[in-house]
Amino acid sequence: MFAAIDIFVLLGPPGAGKGTLSQFCVSNFGWQQVAAGNLCRKHIAEGTKIGLQIAHAIASGNLAAEGLVSDMVFDWLNLNQLVKPIILDGFPRTITQAEMLNQFFQMNQDRFKLNVVRLKASDDHVLTRMLTRYVCERSDCQMVYSSANVELQSKDGITCDKCAGGLIKRQDDSLGSIRERLHVYHQHENGLIGYYSQIGQSIIEIDVERELSVIFNRFVDAFGVKNSVCMTNGIN
Ligand SMILES: [Zn+2]
Repeated sequence: MFAAIDIFVLLGPPGAGKGTLSQFCVSNFGWQQVAAGNLCRKHIAEGTKIGLQIAHAIASGNLAAEGLVSDMVFDWLNLNQLVKPIILDGFPRTITQAEMLNQFFQMNQDRFKLNVVRLKASDDHVLTRMLTRYVCERSDCQMVYSSANVELQSKDGITCDKCAGGLIKRQDDSLGSIRERLHVYHQHENGLIGYYSQIGQSIIEIDVERELSVIFNRFVDAFGVKNSVCMTNGIN
């Protein structure tokens, strides 16, 4: 009998550093990250059935239908041979998705265990972060960099340290788009936190307006992660 795989849900506004914390766990502990947004982009780019449905939903002016995104994430969890903890990034975003995820956990109690982490940051903080953010252009890498944070700069400033891909700004990292995403996030945040309280799920809160090493150590302490290394060396 294998132990259940820990699944981490990261709540927090866009730009709070969910991707950076995920990369830290991937690099240092060999965990796996699945970012719902990247999964959507990948499915759309590959023209899969669910990708076409999501593209249609977006083209119709809606956020991708909640059930489609949930199915896509559950498929990923079911179809991959998982041995290490998984970090879900950008999912669930709404109470409906959180309910679907909870049902998924109830049906798979022997396989998965839920851990909820809330990254707390002010709107001003995340706006600055996102306007100075760059990502690796390769969809299988997506390493995150920042021109404003020495701990998150690429060595030459133009290519990815990890895979030598080019660095680009994400299309949705413009001021108008960020403000809109923050607005949407805040609409759902209280609902999600209320929902998790209601079902008795504990939430670990981490103040992310701090140095990366402080944030990483808080995470490691909170979950008793073993074999932690390179605590002060950022994400590399
Ligand atoms: Zn890269």
